[in-house]
Amino acid sequence: MLVVHKYGGTSVGDVERIENVTNRVAKAREEGHDVVVVVSAMSGETNKLIGYAEHFTSTPAKKEMDMLLSSGERVTAALLSISLQARGYDATALTGRQAGIVTDDKHTFARIESIDPTAIKNAIKEGKIVIVAGFQGINKNGAVTTLGRGGSDLSAVALAASLNADQCEIYSDVDGIYTTDPRIEPKAKKLDTISYDEMLELSSLGAKVLQNRSVELAKKLNVKLYAKSSFSDNEGTLIAEESSMEAVLVSGIVLDKNQARVTLRGVSDRPGIAAEIFSKLAEAEINVDMIIQNMSENGLTNLGFTVPHSEHENAKKLMESFNHDIEGMDFDEHVCKVSVVGVGMKSHSGVAATAFTTMAENNINIQMISTSEIKVSMVIDEKYGELAIRSLHQAYELDK
Ligand code: ASP
Ligand code: MG
Repeated sequence: MLVVHKYGGTSVGDVERIENVTNRVAKAREEGHDVVVVVSAMSGETNKLIGYAEHFTSTPAKKEMDMLLSSGERVTAALLSISLQARGYDATALTGRQAGIVTDDKHTFARIESIDPTAIKNAIKEGKIVIVAGFQGINKNGAVTTLGRGGSDLSAVALAASLNADQCEIYSDVDGIYTTDPRIEPKAKKLDTISYDEMLELSSLGAKVLQNRSVELAKKLNVKLYAKSSFSDNEGTLIAEESSMEAVLVSGIVLDKNQARVTLRGVSDRPGIAAEIFSKLAEAEINVDMIIQNMSENGLTNLGFTVPHSEHENAKKLMESFNHDIEGMDFDEHVCKVSVVGVGMKSHSGVAATAFTTMAENNINIQMISTSEIKVSMVIDEKYGELAIRSLHQAYELDK
């Protein structure tokens, strides 16, 4: 079997932890597998390097930032290879370039365009364990590029696909994907399996175990992903095609605290008004999440939406330029979004009703609702966020 392992920053945070990773990689090797390992920078390293650059300017050139940040992953790749060699294993450490990873020109947020896996394949044929520095590639001109924060996950998935690996194991300090945040609900259970689509909802909603882009890519290229802990021997969670797993109604409940609500009252209801408002927000690169518009009365309608906390003030300023078209505005930073996620909703009715009933039983007012095929989201007062999570977790019997 050919396996790709990816170790995140905390898993390689110091030399003892790199030693621990060495043991894991050696074990996979002893079991007879071909192993390709992708590593992150040691935890805190990328931020430290960013800090150094910001000592000189708040706007360092992105090309130089890529040169700087890509070094973090090279350090860990080299150290892991040295450690494996010291234990008698044949290993080789490669940069993104040596691993054949070519990206577009978008420095600090590059997309992988192609991978030439020849060098890795040859090294595997020679019996080597291959260690690849994550998070990086080169553009057509040969300049180093990086793939955006958390990008080593993406390196691992892309390499797994191009090598046709049997599976891709992403190691971090958590042992898988949980039904909800165990810090909020201690009865949260680890999931054995979850579908790509559910995982995408959970990660974009704030469960930060896997980088979103890497899950999207895994789905597109059908890479079998495992989320595991490098600190335990637990099974982890398999993220795969929906058809390959047992049908469950609801997989997880997520709390997103990074939400602020904007309500526009008495908006003149004419063609083009929504386009104007949301184009303004888009131009300012403000990410709008939930959008709700009511039926209008006497030519006036109400429009509500949410934005990230950090964009709240900006959104406010922009909306004030619409004064002539809007009777009143209301902004609330003290809201959160709770979401119920599960592929089972596609074929079962009543999931949303259960969510609303649970809110009612706890006397929590729902301010906004939005739904998709596999998700019900509700905006509520932030002080009830954790209560809502625990109540919903119980209502869908996720602790069972
Ligand atoms: N070191 C990079 C970061 O901290 C990439 C990664 O760890 O995946 O974002
Ligand atoms: Mg990471």
